[in-house]
Amino acid sequence: MGAQTDLAFQKEDEVIPPSLRLVRDFVNTVEYQLDDERLREPGDLAAWLGGRGLLDAGTSVSADDLAFARQLREGLRGVLELHAGHEPDATAVRRLNEALTQLPVRLQFIEAESFELAPAGDDPVRRALGGLLDAVRRSIDDGTWPRLKACARDSCRWAYYDHSRNRSSRWCTMAGCGNAVKMRKAYERLETARHRGRGRRVIGWDEMRAPRAPTRPCSPTRALGRASTSSTRRGTSRAPTRSRLDR
Ligand SMILES: [Zn+2]
Repeated sequence: MGAQTDLAFQKEDEVIPPSLRLVRDFVNTVEYQLDDERLREPGDLAAWLGGRGLLDAGTSVSADDLAFARQLREGLRGVLELHAGHEPDATAVRRLNEALTQLPVRLQFIEAESFELAPAGDDPVRRALGGLLDAVRRSIDDGTWPRLKACARDSCRWAYYDHSRNRSSRWCTMAGCGNAVKMRKAYERLETARHRGRGRRVIGWDEMRAPRAPTRPCSPTRALGRASTSSTRRGTSRAPTRSRLDR
């Protein structure tokens, strides 16, 4: 199981366009299944932006900047969840737009027929985060934006690039979250049948998932090592502590 998720994330990392990689890695600066927040302090945000050439070294980053970056991150995640076919959340786009009111950008033509979203204002951190918006703009231009999704498993919500042919993927990995969700739904159907008196033998949840459950978390921070993904917190490597299925 672990090998399957490793391969899935490795494949994703090989084919994801650079613009989507930037947005994906920003959204994945927190991993909810492991309670792993990588933007804990303003210095974390400075390091993340600096590591991607968006912010000059030594630029001061405030607690307010950090809070805004997290708000922007969760706004983006809400939209990515819609891409994965989550239950429609009427507030998702509104929440992202609320965050964007604090992120000034201006339209700037590159050529006669193409433009970019250039940072506006003097705030260096806001200007750096504006680079994320232009990455979104580029991916909308090339048609890949709907392929960036957030896993439909409620406890996961990991951002991933859906490179499937029909763009129908709903989970960060089928072998990890996809299997877990399907098995849980199957178990719930058995439970429902049992309560109706039609079930013959009801398999316990633990018994049902045990043979196929992954023995470790399935997100690419483990599969590839953070050094190989740009979501890496530089200079640190936190090992996973528990399985995603434990939650
Ligand atoms: Zn997932």
